[in-house]
Amino acid sequence: MQEKKQEKIELEEQIKRKMTHIKHRIAVMSGKGGVGKSTVTALLAVHFARQGRLVGILDADFLGPSIPKLFGLERKKPLSSIDGLEPVLTSKYAIRVMSLQFMTPEGIAVVWRGPMITKVLEDFVAHTSWGNLDYLIVDMPPGTGDVPITVLQDIPLDGTIMVATPHDLTASIVERAINMARTMDTEVLGIVENMSYYRCPECGRIARFGSSTSLLARKYGLKVIASIPLEEDLARYCDAGIVEEYKTDYFEGSEL
Ligand code: ADP
Repeated sequence: MQEKKQEKIELEEQIKRKMTHIKHRIAVMSGKGGVGKSTVTALLAVHFARQGRLVGILDADFLGPSIPKLFGLERKKPLSSIDGLEPVLTSKYAIRVMSLQFMTPEGIAVVWRGPMITKVLEDFVAHTSWGNLDYLIVDMPPGTGDVPITVLQDIPLDGTIMVATPHDLTASIVERAINMARTMDTEVLGIVENMSYYRCPECGRIARFGSSTSLLARKYGLKVIASIPLEEDLARYCDAGIVEEYKTDYFEGSEL
């Protein structure tokens, strides 16, 4: 028991040491699945990389990892070096990606209980050779369970970005995630509204879907950092694993 405790303390210290080489650490959360958390993580990473920053992504969505797919990296494997596991580099901007999916055979689900997931996550972060980075972006799993708790506890974050869609149901779940982050003394940097509106490709008319996100932002005194439309092109670039080629930067001028 004592030995286990000591091992955990050492892992946590190792994580903290690694994080001192990373200037900014941001977690992308939502509480709800399927709202575009991974897409937002990828677009944010590309935004910083286009400004010439060194960027890494930790895919902490162990049970539904999708970052490798967005960057076309599903068949890649991280190499090991004396500093630990080397993240896989994306083809265009050399974003340093680490995902549990690199270690699991295709199509196989990870079936772990909370304590096991926590241990693997800590091992994973501590033994990755992140190097010097300007930004590490953490793609969180949905929910407010063990992984988000571990990330919020172990990684000294600048803050979290919440991803919402303009639906009341999403807003009420994102609200829980906001409260969770604040309870754990983590700043919420703002909300990204995904699938915010739809622009008709033929007539250019814009249809907006609802105001639940702006109401949520007002209630918690938060900024809406970016609004991303529901767009066929974006889905296509993501599905094809070429999100780095997607031209529009929704984070331009966002003060992040
Ligand atoms: P999450 O990480 O929250 O589970 P994903 O980022 O994996 O969500 O997105 C779920 C699906 O929705 C993906 O197929 C993605 O390509 C698609 N998607 C996300 N955002 C948009 C958008 N703004 N327009 C069109 N498709 C989107």
